[in-house]
Amino acid sequence: MTSKLETVNQNIHSAAIISDRLGSDITLVAVSKTKSSDAITAILDEGHRTFGENKVQEAAGKWPELRSLYDNVELHLIGPLQSNKVRHALQIFDVIETVDRPKLARAIARISAEENITCLCYIQINLGREKQKAGIDPAEADSFITMCRDELKLPVIGLMCIPPADQNPTPYFSQLKEIAERNGLDKLSMGMSSDYETAILCGATSVRVGTAIFGARSFE
Ligand SMILES: *Cc1c(COP(=O)(O)O)cnc(C)c1O
Repeated sequence: MTSKLETVNQNIHSAAIISDRLGSDITLVAVSKTKSSDAITAILDEGHRTFGENKVQEAAGKWPELRSLYDNVELHLIGPLQSNKVRHALQIFDVIETVDRPKLARAIARISAEENITCLCYIQINLGREKQKAGIDPAEADSFITMCRDELKLPVIGLMCIPPADQNPTPYFSQLKEIAERNGLDKLSMGMSSDYETAILCGATSVRVGTAIFGARSFE
């Protein structure tokens, strides 16, 4: 029987081929928020190693032990980060996808230096300018990216977005790609269970997929 993970990987592969890339060019971040260590272990046992969590505390409760059992795990923070949790986040995560304001960027730069840790960063853009969502206003994206890279020397590798729900995501995905291209950034983290193939066709290099791999979440 084909597992959910295999199905997602096959769909990623097909979408990559259509957009003149290889499935291996696309990173699948398996979003394991709210899922038990047992559920995550099943995915690790299928050979998958890249995961996303949205809360520092929850990740800290699951991942140190899982990392001790499995090599080469790469963990991405995909939820909002408070400045006072940066030090803890840097101990748990390899990639922070949600750099979304100057205060946080400064805290990551300062504490990474103090701890001598390099944590790759994505800048989150609030393309729909939604009040309830985190992210930099698209009009301020260029200056924020410049500040993070040139002034703070953060290892910024790309951009991340969560488009408004219940809207066609394509224009948002295309806009994220435009902002990345004009700033010389290669990586685009966009697309979730409902739209990861569309995101790949629009240039995503990384998709964040939870439900389609783990099944529905019972709580957020
Ligand atoms: C939960 C979450 C996802 C995964 O959503 P699914 O619809 O379950 O695939 C992706 N990105 C972010 C930022 C999330 O919080």
